[in-house]
Order: sequence, then C-alpha cells, then structure tokens
Amino acid sequence: MDKELANGRIVAAQGNLMTVEFDGIIRQNEVVFVHTGSEKLKGEVIEVNGNEAKVQVFELTNGIKLNDEVSFTGDLLFVELGPGLLKNVYDGLQNPLEEVAQEKGYFLPRGVYLNALPRAIKWDFTPIAKKGDVVEKGDFLGSVPEGVIDHKIMVPFQFQGKGTILEIKKKGNYTVEEEIAKIKDEDGKIHSVNMIQKWPAKFPLRLGERVLPIEKLSTACRIIDGPFPVAKGGTFCTPGPFGAGKTVLQHQISKYAEIEVVIVVACGERAGEVVELLREFPHLDDPKTGKKLMDRTCIICNTSSMPVAARESSVYVGVTIAEYYRQMGADTLLLADSTSRWAQALREMSGRLEEIPGEEAFPAYLASRISEFYERAGVIKLKTGKTASLTIGGSVSPAGGNFEEPVTQSTLAVVGCFLGLSRSRSDARRFPAIDPLISWSKYLDRFSEYGKVDNATVIKKAQKFIHEGDEIGKKMSVVGEEGIQIDDIVVYLKGEFYDSVFLQQNAFDKVDTATNEIRQKEQLSIIKMVLDKEFVFEERDEARSFFLNLTDKVIQWNYTSMDDKTYSEKKNEIIGMIEG
Ligand code: ADP
Ligand code: MG
Repeated sequence: MDKELANGRIVAAQGNLMTVEFDGIIRQNEVVFVHTGSEKLKGEVIEVNGNEAKVQVFELTNGIKLNDEVSFTGDLLFVELGPGLLKNVYDGLQNPLEEVAQEKGYFLPRGVYLNALPRAIKWDFTPIAKKGDVVEKGDFLGSVPEGVIDHKIMVPFQFQGKGTILEIKKKGNYTVEEEIAKIKDEDGKIHSVNMIQKWPAKFPLRLGERVLPIEKLSTACRIIDGPFPVAKGGTFCTPGPFGAGKTVLQHQISKYAEIEVVIVVACGERAGEVVELLREFPHLDDPKTGKKLMDRTCIICNTSSMPVAARESSVYVGVTIAEYYRQMGADTLLLADSTSRWAQALREMSGRLEEIPGEEAFPAYLASRISEFYERAGVIKLKTGKTASLTIGGSVSPAGGNFEEPVTQSTLAVVGCFLGLSRSRSDARRFPAIDPLISWSKYLDRFSEYGKVDNATVIKKAQKFIHEGDEIGKKMSVVGEEGIQIDDIVVYLKGEFYDSVFLQQNAFDKVDTATNEIRQKEQLSIIKMVLDKEFVFEERDEARSFFLNLTDKVIQWNYTSMDDKTYSEKKNEIIGMIEG
C-alpha cells in the first residue's frame, strides 16, 4: 500500500523533545527520523496539534539544528518478532547488544539501528498447515526449533479476514526473510509471508479468548507458593530495597517457576545493576533442561546512557515479545526491574510536554499506564484449545522504602499479589526477605474456591500464628519474657517455627533452593501437626529448647533430597519428636 508520507522540519527543541512543523497526515506514535548532518535519528510522535507535532527523539540530540528535516515513516513503533529473539539481549529500541559489541565495540553510534532478528541463521522449518487450508491471523503455519522452544510461525497478526494458503514451503532450512508461504486474502490479493512479524509495541497482542487465571503458578519458592501464590497469567510486584534479595529472587523464579519463556526488562536502575544482570544471567543453569537459562530467555535492558524515551519504550518491547511467545502456546513470564525507573521516564517526558502534573510531579495518567501494563498479563485460549499464559512481575523501588508514593500505590491497586521484601528480614538474614506481615495475594482464595490449593487451610492457620506471634514478640521486647504467659510463648514459638522451616528457604543449598508441590505438602503436614498440638511445658526454657531442636531437625530434613534413603527416617524422627 502506497501512502503519502508526511515531511517536516524542526522549529523548536528542548532536550529530546522536538517541535516539528509538518505537511501531510501523521499518526500519534508514528516513528520519525530526524536528519541531522549525515545522521538519521529515530524518534516518535507523542503529541499532534494542528500542523505541529511533538517528537521525542530516542537518542542524544546534540547537534540537531532548527530547520533540520524530519521524515515521517507512517509506521508505529514496531517490535520485530520471530525466531532468534531468545538468547538475545536488546536495548530499548531492540538493537541486539551483543552484535553491537562485536560490530561497534559496545557503543552504538548514534543513528545506527541493527536488525533485531539475525538475518543469516537458517531455521529448520516444518510446515503445520498445508496448501488449500483456510487460515486467519495467528494460525500456525509451521514451526522451527529455537533452542528448547518449539517456535511457531504464524499467519501475520495484521492479516485481515480469512485467507487461503496457495503455497507453503516443504520442510527445510530457511532464513527469517525467505518466503515460507503465499496466502490469498478475501479480496484476492496475494501475501508473501516470511518468519518476521511486526507489532506496534504499545498495543496488546492478544488473539483468542481471554480466560480467568485460576491455575497456580508453581515457583518452588515456598513463601510464594504457600501464603502468597501467583496465578499463571496473573500479576505480582516486588518492591526491592538494595540488598534485600531482589536479584536472587528474580533468578530463583526464572529458573524454577513452571514457565517456558522468560523475558527480563532491566529498566535503568543503577548502571551497575544492569551490568550485573548481564554478567550473571547468561551463566545461570537451567534446572529443567540442563542447559543455560538464557536459551529460553530474552533480556531487554537500558544502558544508562540511553535517553528517557528509550527507557520508556523498553517495557513495551518486552511485554510485546512475551505476548508473542504466549500466542504460540507457551507459558511466559515477564519480569520488569524496576518499574519505578520506567515511571520516572514517564515523568520526565510529561514534564517536558508541560502537562499538568499529578502527585509528586508524575503525570496524571501514571495510574492508567501502570494498569494498562499489568493488564497485558493473562491467560488466553488458542484456537487449538490450548491455553497459554503471560505472568507479569514488576519490581518497584520506592525511595526510602516509602510505600505511600504514587508508583507503589498505583501498582498495588492493580496487581494480584504483593511480595513485599523488607529490610528488617534481610538484615536478620531471613531469606527470601518477603515479609509475611505485609505481603498479600488475592489469588489464594480464588484457588481454594476452585480446589486448586489443598494446603490453603494449613497456610491460613500458620499465617495467624505469624501475626499473633509478632504481637507477642513485640510485647516480649517491651516487658521481657517473664511478663508473657507460657501459652503465648508457645504461640510465638509456633509462628517462629513455621517461619524458619517453611517461609525461609536457602537459595544456596542445592536441595532447599527449590521445593516442589509434593514436598511442600509433606512439609506442611509436619507444620500442621505442630500447630495443632497442645504442648504442655513447665518452663519457658523447656519450650524454647524443644522448638530449637525441632526447628534444627526440620531444617536438616529440608536439606535432604526425597531420593535420599534417610529422608523417611528423618521425617519419622520428627514425627516422633512432636508426638513426644
Ligand atoms: P538485591 O538485588 O535486592 O540488591 P541480592 O539479590 O543481590 O539483593 O541479595 C543480596 C544478598 O542476600 C545475596 O548476595 C545473598 O547473600 C543474600 N540472599 C538473598 N536471597 C537469598 C536466599 N534466598 N537465600 C540465601 N541468601 C540470600
Ligand atoms: Mg540486585
């Protein structure tokens, strides 16, 4: 389709924000190029007013002059989708950073944009559809193995109505740019299809019926799976003060959750943190495949030198890639770290546009942007009948750990689960430092309603002990142990016991690091016995030493593999101790 593309020139500049006078018709969020000297800098239309547009340039803008030419592309900011996304590390504009490193020595010169998908690799294509089949957007044409993932090649998402396959390639090796099918649409027009799809980053990619997320996402992390579960296709947030264990938790979830594809968006926290992520992630082993976790991961990161608009867009690039894998039937997880930096990017852009600011100078639409982002999570039912999910987890880094600020508040209003990491727990080395006193999950009841969590009763009971125990502990620190009734001390010790053997989990012990559902059930059966038992102790010290011993034994048992022949012995010993 031939379009008359608009042209314009710069009439004012303020930081990365350009005012452009143009002729022709343009679209909101259209991609533009600013021609300055011999360079072409990418930008995006963020406001249109008469024949003037505000354009946010994604790059450093020094050297741009008044009257520099601006060409409009007619395209929205697209994400390139297809085989080759996994294992890759991209910047916020989907430049592959490793290639940048090889070709340009880590610093991408301004105005250079690389192809997101590798063009040279030949993928082993196996057709699923056949000549004569009637298809529509999103239908599977074939598949290629992409590492451990069966990557589906789909009818282009922009394809209108029904189409007939005129030709489809035989099994063989093709690059992403080679034609793999010809499809005739309802108007008789013939479309040549290859493995590259494009999708505008800011629009949800979701073909198929949306279904309620009612299945639990097993993470093998007990404090999540137990009291604060996340639904497959649900949302959660983790505020993360420095050193609280945010990174370790993120690695744990990526490795052990029942997830096929992991997308990580590293949103310009400190530069050091992005570097840390890039250094550590590629070395993580994948317990599921015995290979590297990177084989089923894609990372989008913002180098600290990237301007605000690229920081803002990276979140959308990441979520679009996650939706793409969901569309082929995979359970996907998007981790965004940190959404606070993303919100700051929104604030900076809004400030330059001179919009009326809301709370703490964030734009008034902050809450709706955050909610639109998390809304992109969910479960869909594909035409094949299979369901697929996208779970979104975002970290929030409120300054000074103050949750009363707009980003945390807007996030808490929309997510289904809040995993609050607390400084006091990490200082006490109670890891993962998710605080059981402040965290919550809206999913717990939903699962038990559907009979998905048979452990819910024990968990709820144990949580009561945690809360009551905390009250008693506080009182104890004021009046001393002598002022507390022995029964209350036992309540406190029961809460501590559950905390020590279940909520806390050692990420660095090869057995304790991941606890599957079967094993969690075993552990909870022991916890139930302890909570239900009416212990009789004469002395406070007797109670203390009993619980100390018991806790020790159970932790040792937690470190013992279920395949180990001492596993049952240890369990029976524990039961014997409780029964006294
Ligand atoms: P953050 O990313 O929030 O700054 P990290 O994830 O790097 O914090 O964790 C800081 C340290 O806390 C780790 O190096 C480790 O020693 C300890 N830690 C965190 N989580 C666990 C865990 N689950 N088990 C044992 N130690 C942990
Ligand atoms: Mg960290």
